[in-house]
Amino acid sequence: MKVVTQIQEYRKLRPAMAVPVGFVPTMGYLHQGHLELVRRARAENQTVVVSIFVNPTQFGPQEDLASYPRDPERDLALLEKEGADMVFMPSAEEMYPEGFDSWVEVGRATERLEGAYRTGHFRGVATVVAKLFNIVQPTRAYFGQKDAQQLVVIKKMVSDLNLDLEVVAVPTVRESDGLAMSSRNIYLDPNERQAALVLWQVLSLAQELWQEGERDAERLRQEMTLFIDAEPLARIDYVSVADSSTLEELSRIEGAALVSMAAWIGKTRLIDNVMLDTK
Ligand code: AMP
Repeated sequence: MKVVTQIQEYRKLRPAMAVPVGFVPTMGYLHQGHLELVRRARAENQTVVVSIFVNPTQFGPQEDLASYPRDPERDLALLEKEGADMVFMPSAEEMYPEGFDSWVEVGRATERLEGAYRTGHFRGVATVVAKLFNIVQPTRAYFGQKDAQQLVVIKKMVSDLNLDLEVVAVPTVRESDGLAMSSRNIYLDPNERQAALVLWQVLSLAQELWQEGERDAERLRQEMTLFIDAEPLARIDYVSVADSSTLEELSRIEGAALVSMAAWIGKTRLIDNVMLDTK
């Protein structure tokens, strides 16, 4: 497994790579969710490239950029075990040199949900992912359903800007009790870790109500809000039942619906979602 930190060095190596090239962008501090993406990429491609880059432009000024967990040595050992061929691990200066001043803005899909609470987040995400696509030149790129809106935004960018690659969505990997794996789970103390289960419990509740025939989206949002409010350590940012491609809030559920939420558990902000789909 080769570790590359310079864009120029990667560019020299790219022509000799066996295609298809599968690419997994990450911010590191890897867990089984990330590794599942790597496994999918390994199974479907000749070459697997993983990037580790904590992208400063997707963090707001009040967010956790400085404290975001990092453990590159452990990450590299895990990626080696999964059979990744190359890890691209640039510095912030390599990606954003002095004078950097071009941005990728995806439209309406970035205004809702996470976008409404994290100003500029998706501009940072779209910009860094476009840059990484241009550098890595992948055939396929793998993203987790855990960040459902990110997936919608990246797909839209790839389609609108005619980027020549396929975006592959990978289902959310969960702990045995249902908590979605996240690098940020490390912030939770034992009480908060227990309280954090409310996210999965309330998504399961939404799924049950839907399976029993509930199609009133507002009713689902209300039931979910009541359920989360009963957990004293949880504070809701949003609870959403939205169209799975436009992310517009639904009144009635007819096609596929994305049920998603963000909640603070103590000082840690967690997101999770499930798709309601007859398919
Ligand atoms: P991050 O390092 O948080 O930027 O995540 C890198 C990629 O891993 C993104 O495509 C995430 O959606 C994906 N990912 C993170 N957590 C999970 C999870 N629990 N299951 C599946 N994919 C995940």
